[in-house]
Amino acid sequence: MLNRAIVSMLPLVPRPVVWRISRRYIAGETLDDALHQVTELNDKGMSTTLDILGEDSVTEAQAKKGLDRYLEAIEAIEKRQLDSNISVKLSMLGLKIDTKLCLAVMRDLLAASDRLGNFVRIDMEDSSVTDATLKIYHELRKEFPGVGAVLQSCMRRSESDVAALLAGGDTYLRLCKGIYIEEEKVAYQEKEEVRDSYRRLLRQMFEGGVKRVGIATHDRKLVDDAIALIEDQRISADRYEFQMLLGVTEDIRHELVSAGHPLRVYLPYGEEWYAYSTRRLRENPRIAGYVVRNLFKNR
Ligand SMILES: Cc1cc2nc3c(=O)[nH]c(=O)nc-3n(C[C@H](O)[C@H](O)[C@H](O)COP(=O)(O)OP(=O)(O)OC[C@H]3O[C@@H](n4cnc5c(N)ncnc54)[C@H](O)[C@@H]3O)c2cc1C
Repeated sequence: MLNRAIVSMLPLVPRPVVWRISRRYIAGETLDDALHQVTELNDKGMSTTLDILGEDSVTEAQAKKGLDRYLEAIEAIEKRQLDSNISVKLSMLGLKIDTKLCLAVMRDLLAASDRLGNFVRIDMEDSSVTDATLKIYHELRKEFPGVGAVLQSCMRRSESDVAALLAGGDTYLRLCKGIYIEEEKVAYQEKEEVRDSYRRLLRQMFEGGVKRVGIATHDRKLVDDAIALIEDQRISADRYEFQMLLGVTEDIRHELVSAGHPLRVYLPYGEEWYAYSTRRLRENPRIAGYVVRNLFKNR
């Protein structure tokens, strides 16, 4: 209730105040800002993944602009010899205009990324595009080695999606809970159900031979369970990495790095930070609660 009330007041909040709330989660407005953060995190023993903020493309020109911005990012990563890959949302790269256009854009991006020895993660969006996203991932991984997808443990379908992906060749997966509010018929609603599903999926991914699993969570219980599973199954450090969002649970991040676990930080950046921040808050008012709590904690 409180979170929804905060979200409904968002249009009244001045932009500089939204920036004050959002800035710990956003690497900055420009590629240079983002690369500065990448350098700092690399120096602290963490790798990163860059997410360029943008709205869904509704024209081919917008999709191509998204491609150009990502190409610029991977070129700069290579030039500065940084340890960072990129995370993309297919709807920014044309998915909702035409899947053929999106596939063509992704082929251009992956050709460049492969040439530069980088890796492209396809973020998972809401359930209206799950099928289309996985289909595109399935196509692309036949042609390019450096591409991965994301599965959400809130989704009831994820176990069968993992099984289908494992049957189709080399698989790179990130596992997260899922940020979008979904209906009960497609998604678990209870926190414990989502956690149990996360544990099952993680085991399935390791036992099924996923090449590298991105364990994307800040949930202390899930992090501890993942470490127990890694130790129990003697999973080597090249088969997994923990992944966390910029500005979230830095204490857990620090503990994991000190204990020698690979860790990647997800860095969103771009001029569209305002639209992105308010959209994310509207999509999931629960985040508003975290954000406001953090705002007061840091004063
Ligand atoms: C690297 C990474 C990539 C992701 N990619 C995707 C994706 O492709 N598709 C998708 O649907 N979702 C994605 N997510 C979001 C994810 O699905 C969850 O919504 C988010 O991570 C919160 O779930 P949690 O597992 O951290 O557990 P929660 O129970 O939500 O959080 C555990 C604790 O972490 C802290 N916390 C979590 N989130 C925040 C926040 N935003 N601000 C402040 N504190 C916070 C709180 O202290 C909370 O108690 C990604 C998350 C990460 C870390």
